[in-house]
Amino acid sequence: NRRIVLASRPHGAPTEANFRLESQHVPTAGQGEVLLRTVWLSLDPYMRGRMSDAPSYVAPVGVNEVMGAGTVAIVEQSNNENFTPGDWVVSQSGWQDFAVSNGKDLFKLTGPVLKHPSWALGLLGMTGFTAYMGLLDIGTPQPGETVVVAAATGAVGSMVGQIAKLKGCYVVGIAGGEEKCRYAEQVLGFDRCLNHRAADLAEALKRYCRDGIDVYFESVGGKVFSAVLPLMNTKGRIPVCGLIADYNSTESSPGPDLLPQFQSAILRKRLRVEGFIITQDYGHRFGEFFSQMSQWVEQDRFVFREDCIDGLDNAPETFIGMLEGRNFGKVLIRVAGD
Ligand code: NDP
Repeated sequence: NRRIVLASRPHGAPTEANFRLESQHVPTAGQGEVLLRTVWLSLDPYMRGRMSDAPSYVAPVGVNEVMGAGTVAIVEQSNNENFTPGDWVVSQSGWQDFAVSNGKDLFKLTGPVLKHPSWALGLLGMTGFTAYMGLLDIGTPQPGETVVVAAATGAVGSMVGQIAKLKGCYVVGIAGGEEKCRYAEQVLGFDRCLNHRAADLAEALKRYCRDGIDVYFESVGGKVFSAVLPLMNTKGRIPVCGLIADYNSTESSPGPDLLPQFQSAILRKRLRVEGFIITQDYGHRFGEFFSQMSQWVEQDRFVFREDCIDGLDNAPETFIGMLEGRNFGKVLIRVAGD
């Protein structure tokens, strides 16, 4: 059983030295337990937070402990009456080949998702769920409104923009690089997409959002947020999903302190700014999301790009790259052939 543990806590951007690959015997399932073989491992930005011991909404990964992660796995061995060998499940096995579970944290895959099991981590899993709830429950987009979405071609962002289009909105994405922007406009169907690396981001955004911004789906923070804030309309909504520009920061960003301007905008424009943690705030609504999204998927309404890398040993490098924007779509590690 190969597993990747947290070797040390990063200071700033993580490096490969913060991880260690280990080999151990394959565990055995005890009474009431199942042995799982990981097929797909999901890599997500929140894992950067878990590597740090700063206070957060969940406990950090301990040094020398296996990195946690959502996975799609196959039941290899079962001493639990609810599972039989060969079943596909969503599990929390982490960055390793095999894991043992008592079954309580498993979600068995049935029906059409079995045609594409990795979707249970993306389109029909945590990623899609985050986009759906953040946009629809907090963003409440109305037909004709302007929705701006950060990290627009990423796993969550690409879904946010497509759902907003389905709801009849004018959608402007913000992404890193011309190729990603072309993809957002030509393949995902966004009305516009802007490169956050271009010098004139704030000016360009103003040109593309002539009627202001009604909903800003925040995943980034930093200079993207600075460009968006002055354009927010009265009664605008900002679901705060992530702040990836700051995840590797070791000190506050240089430049003017925007807090007074932000607070003043919240008051004058009566903005709704609401953070959310998908599993904690919306866990009870997964069924609602899953049935609506399954219907949309059946109707072929979505494009969902997966950025799949082979081999557990490539997880650290791939994870580090994702935090820098080297991914193009939902990042998955193919741990074992299915
Ligand atoms: P993505 O697939 O979007 O990958 C991360 C992307 O972030 C990169 O590809 C890069 O895209 C962008 N990025 C990184 N650094 C910067 C920067 N400095 N400025 C602008 N963009 C940057 O990941 P996910 O879709 O999985 O996650 C997106 C966001 O959603 C993250 O903030 C994550 O923490 C959050 N999230 C929150 C959840 C919740 O419950 N609140 C649940 C799931 C995700 P580009 O090349 O375009 O710059």
